[in-house]
Amino acid sequence: MAEAKTAIVTGGSRGIGREVALRLAALGYDIAIVYVGDENEAADTIRACEEKGVKARAYVCDVSSFEETKDAVARIRKDFEGNIEVLVNNAGITRDGLIAFMKEQDWDSVLGVNLKGAFNMIRHTAALFIRNKCGRIVNISSVSGLMGNAGQANYSASKAGIVGLTKSTARELAPKGITCNAVAPGFIRTDMTKNITEDNSELLRTIPLGRMGDVSDVAAAVIFLITSPYITGEVIRVDGGIAM
Ligand code: NDP
Repeated sequence: MAEAKTAIVTGGSRGIGREVALRLAALGYDIAIVYVGDENEAADTIRACEEKGVKARAYVCDVSSFEETKDAVARIRKDFEGNIEVLVNNAGITRDGLIAFMKEQDWDSVLGVNLKGAFNMIRHTAALFIRNKCGRIVNISSVSGLMGNAGQANYSASKAGIVGLTKSTARELAPKGITCNAVAPGFIRTDMTKNITEDNSELLRTIPLGRMGDVSDVAAAVIFLITSPYITGEVIRVDGGIAM
């Protein structure tokens, strides 16, 4: 029997991360999800992955913490016998506000989770990927990181940072056969956007395809990158055309 491969999905308990985890499980990957607090959602994701016949475990870990991510990756390596092949850095938060009034804490927490979180996870898995001469990293950016967005200076900066992190990581790890890419979603229907309704015709006018995206739209791009050995350092927009 072929050896099982493991995929880590941060923020895999809900939203886009859950859909990515389920698709990877359907491809036969064992799944390790990292989340911060919502146990019930995490348990639902694990159950749904297991129903696809793979091993799945959830790890409580604040990705903004260097030590917690180091410990979580060590536990995942032990539980899955070191066999990690895929890392999807998807955990993210928003703390929106105008730059003139933005609280320092809101800047720090968004940069900490969205950008340092991705660094932490790559930092603690890269040596293993290098040793195995194999690895697929996909980071979730945002069109806010490509175009900027009023009221989201912290979030846009973190997501633009993801693009730089992705390209530098791609260049560093390419000689070892490891790819690193990013997906930049637009408006996707999840808990993060629950206050946005499609009744808002002003919002719809900004989306050429005329609708918000679904988690499946984003997950399809993530899987495409994971299954594409000759694409690295790329940023794929999944935004209905917003940032074209
Ligand atoms: P959700 O709010 O639905 O889910 C966020 C996930 O991240 C949850 O699993 C949550 O865990 C986890 N998480 C949050 N903070 C931490 C932390 N400190 N440590 C570990 N895990 C954490 O988000 P979406 O699915 O909408 O977004 C996923 C990614 O896509 C994010 O990076 C987001 O910025 C990006 N994105 C989303 C867009 C959208 O329109 N939805 C648009 C563009 C980009 P828990 O359940 O425990 O809280």
